[in-house]
Order: sequence, then C-alpha cells, then structure tokens
Amino acid sequence: MRMCELLVGLPTVTVLGVVDLLPLAPLAVHIETLLEHRETCAGCGAAARLKDRDPVRLVDLPVFGRAARLVWRKRRWMCSSKVCPVGSWTETAPAIAATRLGLSDRAGRWATFQVGCHGRSVKEVAGDLGCDWHTVNNAVVAYGERLVDDPARIGPVDALGLDETLFVKRGRWRVKQWSTSIVDVRRGQLLDVVEGRDSGPASLWLANRDKAWRAQIRYGTLDMSGPYRKVFDRALPDATQVADPFHVTKLAGEKLDEVRRRVNQEVVGHRGHRDDPLYRARKLLVMAHERLDDRSQDKLTGLLTAGDPNGEVTTAWHAKEAVRELYAHRDPELALEWVDQLSADMRDVSCPPEIRQLGRTMRRWRTQIAAWHQAQVSNGPTETMNGLAKRIKRVAFGMTNFRHWRVRVLLYAGHPDWSKLATVTP
Ligand SMILES: [Zn+2]
Repeated sequence: MRMCELLVGLPTVTVLGVVDLLPLAPLAVHIETLLEHRETCAGCGAAARLKDRDPVRLVDLPVFGRAARLVWRKRRWMCSSKVCPVGSWTETAPAIAATRLGLSDRAGRWATFQVGCHGRSVKEVAGDLGCDWHTVNNAVVAYGERLVDDPARIGPVDALGLDETLFVKRGRWRVKQWSTSIVDVRRGQLLDVVEGRDSGPASLWLANRDKAWRAQIRYGTLDMSGPYRKVFDRALPDATQVADPFHVTKLAGEKLDEVRRRVNQEVVGHRGHRDDPLYRARKLLVMAHERLDDRSQDKLTGLLTAGDPNGEVTTAWHAKEAVRELYAHRDPELALEWVDQLSADMRDVSCPPEIRQLGRTMRRWRTQIAAWHQAQVSNGPTETMNGLAKRIKRVAFGMTNFRHWRVRVLLYAGHPDWSKLATVTP
C-alpha cells in the first residue's frame, strides 16, 4: 500500500490528489476505487464500457485538525452490447459510503455513536464535521435504525411501564404532540416509543410481540389514566397493574398547588403576587418536608399562619406528605389498608374540595396504588421513569419527525448493542 492510501485509511482506493484551496475550507481528498477485475454487465455478462465519472463529495472525519471531504470519482458503466436492456449503472463501494448518504461510511458510524451514545446534538456533531444538520441526521437515522430495530435489543421483561412523553410542540399554536414510552421498569430501558397517548398504538405494539414474551410480564406500571389501563386490560390481562409512585405523588403536589392558588385568591382577592405569603411559600410547600431545614420550616410555618387563615393549605400540605409517606412503608400486606385509610381521610368533609377529589381518585386506583408494595422492594421505578423522561427530553426534544425522534431516543435510552455498530448496514 502506498503512503497516500495508508493515510486515507481505505486500502481499496487510489488517491488521485489532495486539494487544499482555502485555509478554512475542508481538505478535499480525491479518490477512485481500485479496479480489481474487469467490470461486466450483470444482465448479459458482456464487457462494460466506462461511460463517465461522477464526483461525489462525501463528508469525512476531520484530518490533522481540518474538516475533510472525500471526493469519490464514481465510475458510471454501460453495457457494451447494443441489444442488452441494462443500459448503465454506477459502481458501489459500501466501505467508502452507503448509497444516498452524504457521509463517508466511517464518518456515518462515528456520528451515530456521538449522537446516539453520548447524547450529543446533531448540530454539534455537524459542527465538528463542518457540514449541515441534515447530512448528519440522515446518517444517524440510517445507521441507528438498524441498531434500535435489532430484535435482540429487547430481552425478557418482568415489569413493563407505559408513560406519556411530550415529543414536540408544533406549529404556530405550539400544539403539543404526545408519544407513549414503553419501558422495562426494572432495567430502566426504553423499549420503544409509539405515537400518541391513547390506547391504540401501545396495544398494537404489544399485540405484535410474541405470546411467550408477553406472558413473562408480571407487572404493568402506569400513571392514573384511563387509556393505559385499557392497554393493560386488553393486551396484558394477567399482569398486575401498578400505579407509578411518581405520578401518584405528583398528583398530590398538583392538588396542593390548586388549593394554594384558590386560597390566595380568596384571602387577598387576586392571583399570586410576589408579596403574598402563600405565593412566597409555593416552593417550600412542594419540597419534601425532610429536606426543609429548621429555618425553612419556621419560614413555611410563618407564611402559612399569615396566608392560610382556615388551614386549608396546611391540610393539603399534610395530605401531600401523607401520600409520600405511603412509599416509606414496606409491608405489602398492609398496603391496601393504608391506601384505603388515607383516601377515606382525604374525603372527609373537613378537607378542601381539591383534596376530597384526590381522595376519590385514590379510591378509584386503590388496588393499583397498593400493588406497588407488592411489585417493588426498592423505590426504583420512580427514579427510572423520571430519569428516563429527563434523558429523553434532553436528547431530542423539539425534533419534529417522529421516526427520527424515535431512533434518537432509542439510541440513547434503549440500550442498543453498540458493538454491532461496526457491522450494521444502513
Ligand atoms: Zn448487458
């Protein structure tokens, strides 16, 4: 191998020259493939004639600190027989670049790893390569889709979670587009995402798995919403449904917030203002009480005394803490009793209406809420679902194409086998 080819790292090519026009422009390496045998027509076997060469400009990995382009003089052949219908064709060399992609093969794999595994943005990687966003994104989707659609990626699942995920706000009115994340709750692995948050797409996804795989699922975790309950009722009727603790405590926090805003309105006659005691207490209220130091605790007590004359916010705060407390208990035998007691206390006439409503919701979901104590020994799922949602948001929020978005989030949070990146064909 000659020095040039060695440097370029492609043994099957001839380097025709290196063009370095401007100091800031990418370095252009012109190559052609080595002709190892006589090219013949695939249709009739006759000898091929060289018709012309189309230079294809490919984005390659940077060299010597410079952005680089591989200019591949692709040969166009034509059949020498006058009667053959084949006509002409262009040579292919997957080791240099996949057809239709603007990145060289090695740059495409590298970009897929940067974006997919390190969670870097496409824009950032495009900046490294000195090319545009679409060129990088197309390559990431092409290589990445093979990795995420690898059937071996999804192993046996014991606890399967469904969770809604905001995927993009679209158009002038920022209409929210939702998707459903399908999660292996034990491993913290994103299994897939499907469009929408109604029951249809997730049910279909489950229906497309094989029966033995579905039969292994013992638990189905969900927020307290009807559609996902329907998915489990229909597609996994034998799985025990578990209300995700994150959503249960979140709902309690939202109710507390509603009470605070209503009481503030009633007491001072306007919406929250930065001087209102309850407005000033809003962050302390939602904090876990064990995270409040003595000073914050005193401050909260003072603000409530000033802004909550009937103790409604205080009651709602206690209710929120009691819901959190549910998950400190560990005994699955008593769980249902605790849930029933708590939801009965909340429905008491002395409670603010928002808390009575929370009590009714908890009664409706009592078995699912209590089932958590049977399904889980650690507080893993809260962290997992929560952490996963954050990762998904960080990695690709704002992408408008669902297929692209799916590949991105699955590369990042779906545990693809990265050792297969070297061998997948885009
Ligand atoms: Zn031919």
